[in-house]
Order: sequence, then structure tokens, then C-alpha cells
Amino acid sequence: MRKPIIAGNWKMNKNPEETQEFLEAIKGKLPAADQVESVIAAPAIDLNALVWFSKDSDLKVAAENCYFEDEGAFTGETSPKALSEMGVDYVVIGHSERRGYFHETDEDINKKAKAIFRNNMLPIICCGESLETREAGKQTDWVVAQIKAALAGLTAEEVSKSVIAYEPIWAIGTGKTASADQAQEMCHAIREAVKGLYNEQTAENVRIQYGGSVKPANVKELMAKPDIDGGLVGGASMVPDSFLALVNYQN
Ligand code: PEP
Repeated sequence: MRKPIIAGNWKMNKNPEETQEFLEAIKGKLPAADQVESVIAAPAIDLNALVWFSKDSDLKVAAENCYFEDEGAFTGETSPKALSEMGVDYVVIGHSERRGYFHETDEDINKKAKAIFRNNMLPIICCGESLETREAGKQTDWVVAQIKAALAGLTAEEVSKSVIAYEPIWAIGTGKTASADQAQEMCHAIREAVKGLYNEQTAENVRIQYGGSVKPANVKELMAKPDIDGGLVGGASMVPDSFLALVNYQN
């Protein structure tokens, strides 16, 4: 059985003080870690507070990005080695905002995935098509190609532990959610692609999230789908009550 994983993505929001306030508000209210994994992906400047909180709670911590080299003369980048040493669990890679605004390529994302495993963390690998690609009916080929490129050279064991987030670009921050059936269809196609690239067991193990205007009102319907194992949530993860409603969707 795959454990559900609900991850907030704060994007470039919240300073350390606001982070502390958020953590005070969710203290003692997260679901047990053996039921649902609750994760927050936060800006690098907020990670220290989240890591300290996570030591004594069921929260897991994600960085929103990292570089693919461990250290060196790369001004402004964040070291995966340092993230791991500070206690970060996951790193989100390939978010459409990073692909779009910062020109991150499939090759960069693959190098980052390898760097994350090399440093004993786990990747949340984002993929997803634009509205134009969906309207042309090419969404499945597009997403499968992104996944193939991101996973290139990873072992079956690594892919088994990975999280893949399917986030159609047209549904991110727009209030337009893919229907639960559309989300299920693509998450199933991703699982089939992993089966083709690796084997049945790896496909059974890999966790696949849906992201794109997930909120307390639609999380249950999405999570009821057989190939959707979690959500990657932007807007609705930034308010404590809403984040708590998402991670406690089983109640
Ligand atoms: C995201 O940030 O990955 C996201 C899906 O945002 P939102 O939930 O706001 O659409």
C-alpha cells in the first residue's frame, strides 16, 4: 500500500516569522505519519524553522529547489548536500514555474534528481502540460517524455521511493482544477510509463500526486482515485486551517 502524501508548496511566500506563526497554528494537529505524510515545501530561508519543528512532529520538510552540484562556486544556488545535512527530507524539482521562468531543462531536472539521491533525500518530480499541448491532444506524450527524461539513469529502487507530481500548468494557481477523472487518467499513464521503463513493482511503489488548485473542497474526490496518492498544493497550503483540512482529508 502506498502511503498518501500531501505536500504544501509555499512558493516565494512567508518569511521566518510568518513561518513560525504557521507552525504554532498546526502544532499537534497533523495526522499520524503512518497514515498520511504531511510535507511543506518552503523557501530556503524558512527551512531551518521547519526542520526544527519536524524533529518533534509528524511534518516532513521539502526544499523547493536545489542545485545539482554539492558545493562550489555557484553563487546564489542551494547545495543539496547542505539541505540534507540540515535535515531536509524532500526537494521539489521541475516545477512548471522553474521550467518556465528560470528555463530549467529536463537535463537539469535529471541531474538534480541524481544529486538528491546522492545526498539521501527524495525528489518530488513535477511534470505537466500547457493548455496548448492539452488542446492539441498531446498531453500524455508530453508528460511521459518529461518523466522519462527526469528518471534517466535512476535505479528501480530510487524510482520506487520517488514522488511524481502531475501538475497541468493550466490548473496551477488558476482556480481551474483538472477533473478527478482527467487527473486519474494522467496519473495512471505515468504509472504505466514507469512500469514500461522499470517493472510492475516499481510502478506499484512510486507515489504520484496531483497538483493544480487542490483545496479542502476537492481533495477527497481526487484522493479517492486509484492512481492518485497525494496532492501538491500551492495557494490552499498557506493558511494553517486550510493546510490542516488537506492533510486531515481522511477525517
Ligand atoms: C503548485 O504550486 O504547485 C500548485 C499546484 O499551486 P495551486 O495549488 O495554487 O494551483
